[in-house]
Amino acid sequence: MAFDIDMIKKVYSTMAERVDTARKIVGKPLTLSEKILYAHLWDGTPTKAFVRGKDYVDFAPDRIACQDATAQMALLQFMQAGKSKVAVPTTVHCDHLIQAKQGAAPDLLRANQTSSEVFDFLASVSNKYGIGFWKPGAGIIHQVVLENYAFPGGMMIGTDSHTVNAGGLGMVAIGVGGADAVDVMAGMAWELKFPKLIGVKLTGSLNGWTSAKDVILKVAGILTVKGGTGAIVEYFGPGAKNLSCTGKGTICNMGAEIGATTSTFGYDDSMERYLRATDRNEIADEANKIREYLTGDDEVYANPETYFDQVIEIDLDTLRPHLNGPFTPDLATPVGELGEKARKNDWPIKVDWGLIGSCTNSSYEDLTRAASIAKQAVDKKIKAKSDFGINPGSEQIRYTAERDGILKIFEDLDATIFTNACGPCIGQWDRSDLKGDEKNTIVHSFNRNFSKRADGNPNTHAFVGSPEMVAAIAIAGRLDFDPMNDTLINEDGQEVKLDEPKGIELPPLGFDVEDAGYVEPLKDGSGVEVTVSPTSERLQLLTPFEPIGNEIKGAKLLIKAFGKCTTDHISMAGPWLRFRGHLDNISNNMLIGAVNAFNKKTNFVKNQLTGDYEGVPDVARQYKAKGIYSMVVGDHNYGEGSSREHAAMEPRHLGVAAVLVKSFARIHETNLKKQGMLGLTFANESDYDLIQEDDTINFLDLNEFAPDKPLTIEFVHKDGSKDVIKANHTYNQAQIDWYNEGSALNLIKKQNAS
Ligand code: SF4
Repeated sequence: MAFDIDMIKKVYSTMAERVDTARKIVGKPLTLSEKILYAHLWDGTPTKAFVRGKDYVDFAPDRIACQDATAQMALLQFMQAGKSKVAVPTTVHCDHLIQAKQGAAPDLLRANQTSSEVFDFLASVSNKYGIGFWKPGAGIIHQVVLENYAFPGGMMIGTDSHTVNAGGLGMVAIGVGGADAVDVMAGMAWELKFPKLIGVKLTGSLNGWTSAKDVILKVAGILTVKGGTGAIVEYFGPGAKNLSCTGKGTICNMGAEIGATTSTFGYDDSMERYLRATDRNEIADEANKIREYLTGDDEVYANPETYFDQVIEIDLDTLRPHLNGPFTPDLATPVGELGEKARKNDWPIKVDWGLIGSCTNSSYEDLTRAASIAKQAVDKKIKAKSDFGINPGSEQIRYTAERDGILKIFEDLDATIFTNACGPCIGQWDRSDLKGDEKNTIVHSFNRNFSKRADGNPNTHAFVGSPEMVAAIAIAGRLDFDPMNDTLINEDGQEVKLDEPKGIELPPLGFDVEDAGYVEPLKDGSGVEVTVSPTSERLQLLTPFEPIGNEIKGAKLLIKAFGKCTTDHISMAGPWLRFRGHLDNISNNMLIGAVNAFNKKTNFVKNQLTGDYEGVPDVARQYKAKGIYSMVVGDHNYGEGSSREHAAMEPRHLGVAAVLVKSFARIHETNLKKQGMLGLTFANESDYDLIQEDDTINFLDLNEFAPDKPLTIEFVHKDGSKDVIKANHTYNQAQIDWYNEGSALNLIKKQNAS
């Protein structure tokens, strides 16, 4: 489990020289984000200044983390790369495939039975290729990374969009698709467009009911789900120093909800305290030696408007607690104003569940603050009106919280303690209190609240808040409850008020754990056998994709997606998680959540070969069987949400040659490129309206595919009329090479062989 101190010392040994060189080349003081980026260039010491939002740059990340749902496809791909060991420290975490139902012990037992094939596969591949393996029940990837592997000034990538959580410990940590992780595991550079920089200046300090979660709920309200796209959000100012390290983690975690590349904070005393509390004195000692290189230059923070592309200022003294939702995490409402809004919009006021924990809010501070509210309910004889569920983020935090009597407080409120795993946060929730798809409200301290995300029910209205606010709302059982002003009637008929939450930043007795759930890989794993049954429905060895080529003629429109189309709409989670290692089987969920612009229905598109309306995967398979390529058309921020490359691999597998949208979410666009297909944007957004249901599509100049050169596409409509439009793309030459080879992986294999 040990962090790699030699690797960290190596990073720190070159940091000062690289940052000083970068400062000279850039010609001005540097933000923390720039320091970390310039210190991690693939080519070593910086030799040129990069243009933010424009230049593609090769980086050398220090670490990789993968979760079980995405690791399957990532490792299946890595196995194709012809390597004997991963090139950088890598860990695999089993957290997504554990369903929450009865409680930790029975749920874990069931997961170990139902997903043993996948867990065994991940364990054996990890053992073979030198990857640290965290067993089911060990915890959620980002909490485990924060507790064990994150370090100030480091750069990591992870096959999960909330990898950004490690920004709480001063990293640049970025969620990527499995294909990107495979590049780095295989010893290659990792490419990223040099991000823009958004500075968030925090002043004052949190007080009363306001928590770190409210900072990011507020920022999400300001920037919206698209506002961080292509940017690193860097927090600074006196308010930042007043936050705990884990609070910073929460803020960075939900940076994914504004589409930010990542978020980060400069190294400070809170990080040092957390490193020492989590048994990493050596890292703290090393970080202290180069402290000024692990935060932005003073001048940058003194005059942020000069150095950031955008600056936001938030005063923590006056920040109010928020609840964001439903259905989107940027719909921010201060607590106290939600009742009126809910009544106006007909959102159910009654709250059925309060869920606490997840990778976003599982810290000791979070649990103690929420427990201080729960304890008052018990002490003041208030019966909780909603059900309570707790998902601890790791076995270490669970063990420590149990030892210190924190879990007992929740249990006294009849809370169900679920496994240290994602559970309800990723649709892995077998909820027994609903009979069907009835309209209902839940509150949780997780990060995402897209439709169907928690329980698969499109009518569940999920609101995101801090753990202590979730506890208060769940106790009251009402969305319009404002614990700062409202009272409750207890079992004796008395009017009582909840006092402000009180938390403890770090456990006074230290963290403890008996079995953290870590399995160290063999030094030499060459003898380890990895087997995949050809009849398995969960796992399937990959076959390389054939290049699509430069002649796309007669392609059919598969679907014109209307409105929001997240990776959840493209490749749903929940019950489909079980097929994440089997490309053909999981492709049966391709785009089934996307709304067809022509009839506003989901999974109901016209099959141009028969004239019938069928499911999207069925129609795609029929086109593929006839050797006809298809195209997906989409709206703004297509592919927002997670990093899962299945959302790109499935269309590729089912014969989609191109995805043409108004705009992309960054990770998804890269994933499409990695899989050797075309990810394009309308040069003229209104051309979206020209696309008709029966369109046949011809690419007119794909043989001239080149960087910065738009492509010309002809849409032939049913009546024979035509529209010729321009489509932009962001492919550089290396990415065009991926397209020409059929996929990035095909190119890696070719390079390894030569
Ligand atoms: Fe798991 Fe939810 Fe965190 Fe994703 S966001 S890692 S699903 S707990």
